Amino acid sequence: MSSTKLYSTREVKLLEPGSRARVRGWVYRHRDLGGKVFIVVRDSEGILQMIASEAYTPREYIEEARRATIESSIIGEGVVARDPRAPGGVELRLERFEIVGLASDFPIKGGESIDYLLDIRHLWIRSRKLTAVMKIRDTIHGAFREFFKSRGFWEVSPPMLTQAAVEGGATLFKVDFFGRPAYLTQSAQLYLEVLIYSLEKVWTLAPSFRAERSRTRRHLYEYWHLEAEEAWVHMDGEMKLVEDLVAYTTRRVLDEKLEELSFLKRDTEKLEQATKPPYPRIRYEEAIELLRRKGVDINYGDDLGADEERLLTEYFDTPFFITHFPLELKSFYMKPDPHNPREALAFDLLAPEGIGEIVGGSEREDDYERLLNSITSRGLDPKDYEWYLDLRRYGSVPHSGFGLGVERYIMWVAGLDHIRDAIPFPRFRDRLYP
Ligand code: ATP
Ligand code: MG
Repeated sequence: MSSTKLYSTREVKLLEPGSRARVRGWVYRHRDLGGKVFIVVRDSEGILQMIASEAYTPREYIEEARRATIESSIIGEGVVARDPRAPGGVELRLERFEIVGLASDFPIKGGESIDYLLDIRHLWIRSRKLTAVMKIRDTIHGAFREFFKSRGFWEVSPPMLTQAAVEGGATLFKVDFFGRPAYLTQSAQLYLEVLIYSLEKVWTLAPSFRAERSRTRRHLYEYWHLEAEEAWVHMDGEMKLVEDLVAYTTRRVLDEKLEELSFLKRDTEKLEQATKPPYPRIRYEEAIELLRRKGVDINYGDDLGADEERLLTEYFDTPFFITHFPLELKSFYMKPDPHNPREALAFDLLAPEGIGEIVGGSEREDDYERLLNSITSRGLDPKDYEWYLDLRRYGSVPHSGFGLGVERYIMWVAGLDHIRDAIPFPRFRDRLYP
């Protein structure tokens, strides 16, 4: 072999026509026209057309190219040529060709059912669509980290095994912890609250687990939760943080992943609009009013489900906040509005285009007696929350925080119609394999 470097499909496109290169990848498309074999090869960066032809490829390598089944791993060596008919305008005219790992008949040929594709998710994950989404996700994770660093937050690592509920008992996953019951965490929030007394501003990106009762397009049983908590900040300050985070992250995706967005046929104008905070804010009671105007039979005090949220998104082109929910709709740790104690200092951020809630946040109850009352009046056992109550005994401060569902946000950014494709291995009630 003339050169030992193995090029990727992207690197080879940067070479001058006439250069020689060895390129590696997997067979993505294969067309045998007798005298010529066209092989489109894919790798993590894209696709490249290779051609084996009687005009320039020795017979043994044409035969080898002919044998290369879909998803076989291969190495092709040859001359780089421009051809407007090739994807990306470049092709490799083969002089040598080698199958590294011959693939058995690949089970994905197009037209398979979603259920079947989920059974073979470990193979489906190679699709260009899922690859594009995973790359967007990587940018999003990086943007989160940089955003929080730039705002002086500390990244922390809360436990996943816990002994009490954060978001209510109905969706808890119970595990056997040496004969005692333990639960997979629903949210890191209570632990983040602990950590603000040493670090003041903290954040984490970690899984949350919820045994959701109903099956929807936007609920997973295991999802990634971006959570942050800060001392000395009231609800308004927290909402500003959230909109800056979402705007910054969306900007980064637009700047770095335009190719992937366009592969996914995402309308980027919608994302552009979200890069300019502030976002609109409406109160819960206004949301009820807007829904009634659309003919929905809903009253003050009713929860907003996915259907209601979808209708509300029709009023907005950007993400928007709903604030001041009735206290009884929200969790025990939320602080009542001093001006109207029936309402919580809570906010949700909804993504437009029918997606709905992507962030839930609030100012937290910082008073010992009121927190204790809230715990007992909801039938929770104060013994489980003694350590949490301690935070109100030793130097309590006003504080606020939020949680963003990473896959919900990805659904919106990538324009996915189901949350399963926002995560490599989605967990549903009937889905633990692979
Ligand atoms: P929903 O009403 O949609 O179930 P929630 O009110 O239970 O959401 P929170 O407890 O506020 O959600 O959690 C914070 C964020 O975590 C939500 O805004 C959402 O983005 C995300 N989230 C919650 N549950 C799930 C889930 N089962 N799958 C994926 N993301 C979720
Ligand atoms: Mg929920």
